[in-house]
Amino acid sequence: MIYLDNSATTKVRPEVLSAMLPFLNERFGNPSSIHEPGRLAKDALLDSRQKVAAMLGCQPEEIYFSGCGTISNNTAILGRARFVEANDLPKHMITTSIEHPSVTGPARYLESIGWDVTYLPVDSEGFVTAGSVKAALSDRTSIVSIMWANNEIGVVEPIAEIAQVVRDHSKAIGREIFMHTDAVQIPGKIAIDLSKLIVSALSLSGHKFGAPKGIGILFLRRLTNIMPIFFGGGQEMGLLPGTEALPNIVAIGEAARLAHLEQAELAARLLGYQKQLFEILSACENLRVTGPLDLSRRLPGHVSFAVADLEGEALVMRSDLQGLAVSSGSACHLGIIEPSQVLRALRLPDRLANGALRVSFGRDNSDDDAMLAGKALLEIIAKLSKHKAPSTAFSASNVSNHG
Ligand code: PLP
Repeated sequence: MIYLDNSATTKVRPEVLSAMLPFLNERFGNPSSIHEPGRLAKDALLDSRQKVAAMLGCQPEEIYFSGCGTISNNTAILGRARFVEANDLPKHMITTSIEHPSVTGPARYLESIGWDVTYLPVDSEGFVTAGSVKAALSDRTSIVSIMWANNEIGVVEPIAEIAQVVRDHSKAIGREIFMHTDAVQIPGKIAIDLSKLIVSALSLSGHKFGAPKGIGILFLRRLTNIMPIFFGGGQEMGLLPGTEALPNIVAIGEAARLAHLEQAELAARLLGYQKQLFEILSACENLRVTGPLDLSRRLPGHVSFAVADLEGEALVMRSDLQGLAVSSGSACHLGIIEPSQVLRALRLPDRLANGALRVSFGRDNSDDDAMLAGKALLEIIAKLSKHKAPSTAFSASNVSNHG
């Protein structure tokens, strides 16, 4: 089996596993306890916060550990919404039509309690422009949440430009507009420097970069106010209470250290696999790339496309039988065959959108994997297409064959 679904989740790295294991048994203390096992646990907690801060270019005090990316996104958006309401500020939020459900969900909830939410459309490659954000900002805007990169179509949004537009507008209206970005797909692939990228909040998830499932990060810039949406024993500065999951926290610290150290080398390697696969797939006439064609504006290692008149699920199942673990649409919305909200936002015709497939390379892949996957996918597409009646063949004029 060649695992090619690294945007869904990654394997725990061996170095990460070794780092976290002692915290499951001999170093099992609770960081809130004042005895020695507690103090040792607390040291490990602080050490991990420092490692994450080093990866992000921020202060350790700006890092909060959460349960996952979903919890980070909910805490940022709903926590700021509580602050907005408590201070009688205007209730307008701007987001996009291609966010992960952990951003769209809180946005829809806010709408249901009287907020005005603008869902910015994207262009045919999935881009939202700083210009469209600027046009949507008003003196009523209090929250902006725009993802840095999309998990399904690999588009990397111009987040620095967008953050600048939001800052300029904040200055013009004389109050901080809370700018949040879901950066769950970024670590290890694109460098993050929060001393230059001025956002109020940013979410990450450990299992996307070599830590286990069940650990996330919320970066919250110093002096930015949000109110908690969970209540408990005051851990994580009262924002994300609950006894700290120390093995996972140690794991994400080590994963962050390694991702930071190896980012440039990994990104270059992933770009190589991605280029190779797109090149092989360019031989297929009924295939259309989803997301950006310009690889410098795409997540390294992310390949997504749609095949006319085929079903994504059938493609995934055939691939599985051939030993390739890939996904259709997003693995986060398992079991749904109809086009995802993201593919709909690209306004693809249904006969294309139903046949979506995603291949996402990771650090354990090799050039051979890219070549084998390309050959196997061409064969699978050819076989499945053969079973279709000739009358349903997709007109080449509707399909561009992007390599
Ligand atoms: N945001 C994006 C862009 C994602 O890809 C995912 C997971 O697929 C999440 C948020 C949710 O992260 P988690 O699985 O840690 O809740």
